[in-house]
Amino acid sequence: MAEGNTSGNDVVIVGGGVAGCATAYFLSLAGIKATVIEREGIGSQASGFSSGGLNPLEGAQIPGPLAPLAMASYDLHREMAGAVVEASGVDYEYRVGSLIHAAMDDGEMEALRASYELFETGPREFTAEWLTAEEARAAEPLFSPEIGRAVRLTGNAALDSFKLTQALKRAAERQGAIFRKGAVNGLEIGGGVTGVILADGKLPCGTLVMATGPWAREAETWLDISIPVDPLKGETLRLDMPGVQPQQDLSGGGVSVTPKPSGQVWCGTTEEWKGFDRQPSETVRQTIFEKAVRLAPNVEKAWLVQHTACLRPVTPDWLPIVGNAPGWDNVLLATGAGKKGVLLAPGIGKATADLISEGQTTLPIEACDPGRFAPAGRRIGQGG
Ligand SMILES: Cc1cc2nc3c(=O)[nH]c(=O)nc-3n(C[C@H](O)[C@H](O)[C@H](O)COP(=O)(O)OP(=O)(O)OC[C@H]3O[C@@H](n4cnc5c(N)ncnc54)[C@H](O)[C@@H]3O)c2cc1C
Repeated sequence: MAEGNTSGNDVVIVGGGVAGCATAYFLSLAGIKATVIEREGIGSQASGFSSGGLNPLEGAQIPGPLAPLAMASYDLHREMAGAVVEASGVDYEYRVGSLIHAAMDDGEMEALRASYELFETGPREFTAEWLTAEEARAAEPLFSPEIGRAVRLTGNAALDSFKLTQALKRAAERQGAIFRKGAVNGLEIGGGVTGVILADGKLPCGTLVMATGPWAREAETWLDISIPVDPLKGETLRLDMPGVQPQQDLSGGGVSVTPKPSGQVWCGTTEEWKGFDRQPSETVRQTIFEKAVRLAPNVEKAWLVQHTACLRPVTPDWLPIVGNAPGWDNVLLATGAGKKGVLLAPGIGKATADLISEGQTTLPIEACDPGRFAPAGRRIGQGG
């Protein structure tokens, strides 16, 4: 292959999802021009198909050890939005909105109470309010008469994650980063990692970042370390809804119905351990559709525009893997962000860039240390 622009001191990032592109972006701000190698397309996997929600207050390990990084990443999203849009010319539809979560049965009240508590006691920009079923239906007439009590949560931000990934790529590119199509099939080792092996040759590198999402285990044999990340499949329906559309995000009964700036309404999502199966399933389509119609009967009249399926990168403890690979001086891992990879992307990307440019970071990534896993990674198969 052509030698390209790299020299022995250059940074190579494998994976052009949101984690890899955020790393390239923050490296470019530090004056380091990385080369990103992506085998399918920038944002072609989960980063291009996520719901784009940025809720830093709840989720796996939040509250808990992931909470500090979640909030730091949420703040970074807010701080960087204007600069990234300006640097890239891509408006990725960053916005702060509200969600009404309605209980479809008594069993769901526990989840509503938990969300209320977290938003009520969260930072000032987050608020929570109880609504009777009548109040919820007055605020959102699309709700079914079947709903029970509801909670209105405000302060959550959201964005289009495909556009965010493209924006980070373009902003990094304009500051000198290189993006190349190619599949990394192995590593050249000589002391540390000295290059990545592609189908058509070798690309030398001084520092390697593996940001390969749910495919992280491919590098376990190359590096002889444990990187226990497994794919959790999620499917979403994108609908065209004629007539009245929801005015805010709705959820309840195990489904969310979310209006997007594009005019589409997205319904989802699912969680299934199906290996690397990325095929949308007819059964899942029907299930999501039925749940969405139960929550908001008008969905019955909607047209299906697109049915997507993609894979979240999940670790056994539901914490990302960010930092220096154990036993390697010039290899960093940036993966395993599970259901929160879009929220966490600026935190993961900036922390990785800081470690490369400064040798340290002030971002709270202690819980994400790659060294926490035993050499033989345990393959997971159940929820977390
Ligand atoms: C349905 C669904 C909804 C979601 N909703 C949200 C949400 O609301 N909020 C949120 O924060 N997160 C959400 N997520 C999670 C989020 O999408 C992921 O955590 C995030 O996109 C992971 O980004 P990544 O860059 O680590 O991985 P990926 O997006 O998978 O990118 C990894 C890239 O590496 C490339 N690659 C892998 N191996 C190689 C190789 N050997 N050579 C070259 N390239 C390689 C792949 O082609 C891929 O493009 C959702 C996920 C799903 C599935």
